[in-house]
Amino acid sequence: MTDAPSSPATSEILPVRLRGVSVRYDHRVALHEVDLTVSPGEFVVLAGPNGSGKTTLLRVILGFLPVAEGVAELFGSRLDDLAVRERARLVAWVPQDEAVRDDPSVAEYVRYGRYPYRGRFETESAEDLRQVRGALEELDLADRAHDGLLSLSGGERQRAVLARALAQATPLLLLDEPTSHLDIGHQLDILERVRLLSRRRGTAVLAALHDLNLAARFADRVVILSRGRKYDDGPPRDVLSEELLARVWGVSADLRRDPRSGVPYLLPHHRLVEPAAVRSAPGFGPVHVVGGGGAAAPILRWLVDRGYRATTGALHLLDTDAETAQLLGLPMAVELPFAPLGEEVRAAHRVLLGHAQAIVVAPFAIGPSNLANLTDLEPYAGQVPVYLFNPTPIESRDFASGEGRRGWEKLRSGGAQELGSWAALEAALHGLEAGRRLPSRPSPPAATPT
Ligand code: ADP
Ligand code: MG
Repeated sequence: MTDAPSSPATSEILPVRLRGVSVRYDHRVALHEVDLTVSPGEFVVLAGPNGSGKTTLLRVILGFLPVAEGVAELFGSRLDDLAVRERARLVAWVPQDEAVRDDPSVAEYVRYGRYPYRGRFETESAEDLRQVRGALEELDLADRAHDGLLSLSGGERQRAVLARALAQATPLLLLDEPTSHLDIGHQLDILERVRLLSRRRGTAVLAALHDLNLAARFADRVVILSRGRKYDDGPPRDVLSEELLARVWGVSADLRRDPRSGVPYLLPHHRLVEPAAVRSAPGFGPVHVVGGGGAAAPILRWLVDRGYRATTGALHLLDTDAETAQLLGLPMAVELPFAPLGEEVRAAHRVLLGHAQAIVVAPFAIGPSNLANLTDLEPYAGQVPVYLFNPTPIESRDFASGEGRRGWEKLRSGGAQELGSWAALEAALHGLEAGRRLPSRPSPPAATPT
């Protein structure tokens, strides 16, 4: 599985070369015997589920983390032989969350990129000014140079972070999920700019990205990490597959190809539910949210913000609720767009319902394609707390010729409780959480086997 592409001649000086690198946090192994190379001008994407070791690997290359075993080299020198300032002239870093304590102007912030070139008390050189101006222009920030960094939008701020890295003028750029807080337009914008940079300046790029479809579109090569080991390494068309998604991410998907470019893309189908993972994550829950059409999204965000574990379903792919759940990384049961909920998806949904500590029903519109969500819920009302959240009159949301109304009434008579506000929901969940610390709540009904 780890057949690396033919390794470059040993005489070639590579921006990054890792050989058999292992890293531990205390005694836990976070990276296990990883080999990796990045060539000049190459755009390599590091992909893998949360916790697979992407950030750890980037921190090793930055020299922030000691290597327990193996050899890490930057441009032919062992990392531990390089002084901090030497390293900073070789590699620039765009972190996932740039913590800015004060509010520098955009220009001041981009100037931070020049520190490796300045003595402690030296003033700015002509070269410093040139690089800062060039970076601001290249990232279309020249007219924002005097504005405070915090006044920028998310997309602009990420461009400023990139401008800071650019001003550092290094032949290697590392990025850790640089697009994770951006909408799709700004994601494409940032990655286009990074690719252009690598093409124009020959900068080697290593970027952790969790979106495989973005990886397929931009990467020359994708390196997959799974539980701290390298799982695969190669061009996107060779690496990305339905099997990869199932094995490494536990997600079933359809693989398609862009007919124009041949670039593969994956259409995630539904999460292969891992009950153990759902149960063992920290935070009270899972709280399962039934919704659709955007009715569940605010509830899912609210739960995640408060540290609850959440699951959702059964939804349709491309639906706002499904997109939100995907962004939040929540387990869900998903059907293809507009199709009636199929047996496989309903079974996955029942598994999630079976693990729920509480079920929140959003005021969603009920039609023939999602009516099964109500009927599949019925056995759980009375067994697990079921909350009908902010219910709007069912008549206005029943597009299943009375079936929606009948299902709703059954839930109510079966013990589902109406909650009219966020405060009421918060109080209800707090009550459950407190009750659960004394182990006394009845166990939910067993999941229906598939
Ligand atoms: P990724 O970036 O792919 O989400 P990380 O590199 O952040 O993964 O984490 C890899 C593993 O190392 C995870 O199991 C994580 O919990 C663990 N880990 C990360 N940082 C630390 C740390 N500072 N101390 C202890 N364990 C850590
Ligand atoms: Mg990370």
